[in-house]
Order: sequence, then C-alpha cells, then structure tokens
Amino acid sequence: MRPFVYESASSAQEATSRGATDSAFIAGGTTIIDLMKLEVMNPSRLVDLNPLQMRGIEMREDGLRIGALEKMSDVAVHVEVTANYPVISEALLQSASAQIRNMASIGGNLLQRTRCGYFRDVNTPCNKREPGSGCPAIDGENRMHAILGTSSSCVATHMSDLAVALVALDASIRLQNGAEERLIKLDDFYLVPGDIPDHENQLRPGELITEVRVPRLPWARRSTYLKIRDRESYEFALTSAAVALDVDGDKIRDILIAVGGVGTKPWNLPKVREALAGKPLKQETFAAAAKLAVDGARPLRHNGFKVELVQRTIVLALMNLGDLA
Ligand code: SF4
Repeated sequence: MRPFVYESASSAQEATSRGATDSAFIAGGTTIIDLMKLEVMNPSRLVDLNPLQMRGIEMREDGLRIGALEKMSDVAVHVEVTANYPVISEALLQSASAQIRNMASIGGNLLQRTRCGYFRDVNTPCNKREPGSGCPAIDGENRMHAILGTSSSCVATHMSDLAVALVALDASIRLQNGAEERLIKLDDFYLVPGDIPDHENQLRPGELITEVRVPRLPWARRSTYLKIRDRESYEFALTSAAVALDVDGDKIRDILIAVGGVGTKPWNLPKVREALAGKPLKQETFAAAAKLAVDGARPLRHNGFKVELVQRTIVLALMNLGDLA
C-alpha cells in the first residue's frame, strides 16, 4: 500500500470540498482498503465520512429513507425493511459475510468495484483500471462475467446484490457536492461500459451518496431476492433475481423485476414486467416471459450457462412468491 494522508470530515459539504480527484472517501472501508493494498486504487488522501450525519432508517409518507452511512447488517434487520421490502433485507443478508455486513455502509455497497480478477491484478491489462490497455477477460477466464450490457472494452458484472433489489424497486439516491444536491434513479446512475469502462456511474468528482430513497409500494411486502451461487455463504451471484409481485386472485396485476450476476449493471427488466401484467399466475407464463430477460445476451466462452440459469432463477423466484413452488 502506498502512503496516504488520512483526514476526517465534520460535514458533507466539507467532505465534498476535499474530494478532489486524488482523494477517496472511506466509510466501512471493506472495499477501498483491499483495493489500496492491491494498489488498484492509490488515493493520496482518504477522507473519513464516519463523523457525518448521513444515518437513519425511516418510513415516510412517500417511502423508505436510508442514510448512506447505515451498516448493511442494521438495514437488513430493520423492522420497516423486513416488513415492507423483504427483497432488500434478503439481498443484504445474502451479501458478503456477517463480519463485512457489520462494517460496510449502504453507500459503499452501491459503489463497490467489480470483482473481475484482472481488474484486481495490477500485473495484467484491464481497460477499467487502465483505459486502453485491453480486456483479457473477453478471451480469458470469464465464467463469472456478464452476458448483458457488455462491450468489446469490458464484460465485468456489477456485484452489488442490494443494487439489484433497489433497481427493481425503482429506488433513487440523493447526491451531494458542496451545497448542491440532486436526486437520481439508481437505474440511471449506473452506466454500461461502452468504450469507457472506467466510467461506471454518474458520480461527479467530489460527489457523495448521502441517502437512498425507496418509493412507498404496499405490494412490495410480497417481494423476494433469489441468489444462485457456487456456495451458500460469502459468494457473489452467478445469477440473481429481485422480484415484487402484485396478484389479483390467480392473475398477476403487476410485477417489478431486476436481475443480477448477468449484467454490467443491475439489469432492470421492463419487458418482462410488461409481458406478465394481467397474465395468469402459473409456471408456463413465467417461463415465457423469462425468455425476454436474455434479449441481446452475448455469452462468452465460459459463461453460456447463465443464459438458461437466469431464466430459471426468475421462474423460481416468481414460483416462490406466487406460492406455487
Ligand atoms: Fe478489466 Fe472489465 Fe476486462 Fe475485467 S472485464 S479485465 S474489469 S476491462
């Protein structure tokens, strides 16, 4: 790890004024310290956000508000979350390990970097880490990589389970830069790689995520997160599905759905939603709609299995929610 200056900030405004391009913010530190040890990220200054007030989990008239410094483990078991948005709680509880969940912040989780092995190894080229150097994953080890939203520059998946749940729920994040604040839908915040895979999101230099807002949606009480992975703990998704289901008798009134483990960003599925609205609640309907999830998929040498697996993940999540499994 290279030497750096450590500072703490006493207000969001002060933190953002120090957030120049050679600086980085630290909250739980569960991503950035790893990346600094690997010399993948080398900020000359770390600004500690922990003294800031960006906390609190509360249900308001218009929905749920979560402060960006709240810990993953606290949000996962909060009564308003477990009662109103089980999909968020389940996504968090299936993320990382208990130790990491106790440290990691919600804002940091949403900004975590990819786990592509080439990105984390400074001895290999990687367009995301060093623009223009190449992408060895395209012809190399790509079993965990994306099949949707990829480009000839990068095929890395976005790894946050929480982000998949929040995109499905149409959540927004509040951003602050000095005295300026803005609200942006999480789905719009994340970018596909295109020619510039080092631009992963719409965060501007010095800008901070201060809170997450999830719209009030009574039928999100019937929601779930299904994660398929190589082992049952401390493992990233091969595929995942975040689903909320509104039923009317034996018919689907509406659904919200996004998938993970397959896209270069959390993958929202409006076409699957459209295809299921008003349809009978049964396995055949789910399977037909799930085919739309892989529209435009570009599997690589080692991850072709994800095309089928993500469809099965969607069907099983819907079967579970519809009490049909
Ligand atoms: Fe780098 Fe993306 Fe290629 Fe991985 S997939 S090596 S992160 S450019």
